[in-house]
Amino acid sequence: MRILFFVFALLISACQADTSKTEESASNKADSTASAEVNSPSPIDTIVKPVIDYDSSIWTDVFIMNPDIHQDIRYATIYNFVEEKMYDCGRCFLRKEVAQAVARIQEELNKEQLGLKMFDCYRPRPIQWKLWEKVPDPRYVADPRKGSMHNRGSAIDLTLVDSEGNELDMGTEFDFFGPEAYHSYTQHHPTILENRKKLKNIMEANGFRSTRTEWWHYSYRLKSYELSDWLWNCNK
Ligand SMILES: [Zn+2]
Repeated sequence: MRILFFVFALLISACQADTSKTEESASNKADSTASAEVNSPSPIDTIVKPVIDYDSSIWTDVFIMNPDIHQDIRYATIYNFVEEKMYDCGRCFLRKEVAQAVARIQEELNKEQLGLKMFDCYRPRPIQWKLWEKVPDPRYVADPRKGSMHNRGSAIDLTLVDSEGNELDMGTEFDFFGPEAYHSYTQHHPTILENRKKLKNIMEANGFRSTRTEWWHYSYRLKSYELSDWLWNCNK
């Protein structure tokens, strides 16, 4: 009986160890939907219950709308030009029409085994103030008194990814400030110019306009929205 109990206890602890390993690897792969799907043990484990902890008549959570869209919200990490975590957590919110346009683009790209990866979406104005206090230079950060399209929920910083979630080569990193990031810079390898053109064409065809100096920045031009101070919830 004692031996049986020991075997049972061993089995239980092995199960628990396995579960935590699965959870850990799932969270590591939060940004790699494609490989998470391949390795998923069963569909039940992969069901993510959407949390509607915001006013859905104003905002759309892009991840809830389309989990295929990759996210690497850089201001929730130290991997941004101020090298500091500016958001408590990374979530991608957009105004409804903007999010719908993004979903259309993702569906179109799916047909070519490509997809979108978001670096930044709606940026609350209090965060714009924080950025401005660090870098009070309108060449790099929009003055929060005027606000930017990000503060209205109608601008996105993004890139293209392949079916494995790998970023296509755009010639510079996100938030690289210099001529190499300009649309007019033609000294890059033809593949890079082709990748930039692909992103620009599909964005413009769906109601977005580009900006001269940043290949990653697009703003929605078909509707205008108010500046917003709303901060999203991180207690998921
Ligand atoms: Zn931007």
